[in-house]
Amino acid sequence: MSNLDSMLERNRDFAARQSATGTRIPSLPQALPKVKAVIIGCADMRVDPAHVLGIKPGEAVVMRNIGGRVTPGLLEELGLLGRIGEVAGQAPGGGGEFHLVVLQHTDCGITRLAGDPAMLTHYFLTQEEELKKKKITDPRAAVAVDVALLRATPGLPSEWLISGLVCDTPTGLVEIVVPPAALRRAA
Ligand SMILES: [Zn+2]
Repeated sequence: MSNLDSMLERNRDFAARQSATGTRIPSLPQALPKVKAVIIGCADMRVDPAHVLGIKPGEAVVMRNIGGRVTPGLLEELGLLGRIGEVAGQAPGGGGEFHLVVLQHTDCGITRLAGDPAMLTHYFLTQEEELKKKKITDPRAAVAVDVALLRATPGLPSEWLISGLVCDTPTGLVEIVVPPAALRRAA
């Protein structure tokens, strides 16, 4: 049995369980008010936010890239996400408490790219002399850099709570590096 066969078998089990309990995946307008967070995380298979933070279906939008970093591409996706909500006529979180979480981790593969400045400057759309500000090899510093960047990004709702977390990869325990606070102070 191939890897895909085994995944498809698990999918049939998933669909059968949904069917048996009368559960349906909700439509987007129904789902959006129930989502509680956007989580920016690393693509690393060891630190899936669904596992590390016990995210249940429909609870969070999880956006993953190499490093769980706030890149120009990630910001573009956040903009698209906001527009999807507008077009669907629903605010994520239904106007209640909503979290934007940056979750990075120790022993991240991105640290192995520290010797590839050309790749990293393209990834962050920055100059080589600016790369050290991205703190590639230090997840605690990097998460603080990325939270600061999100705070400085126009268009994100001021009232959203933002926090920065680092997962210790051997233990799986998450450390709060940037405690949750409103994205921007009320003017
Ligand atoms: Zn990683």
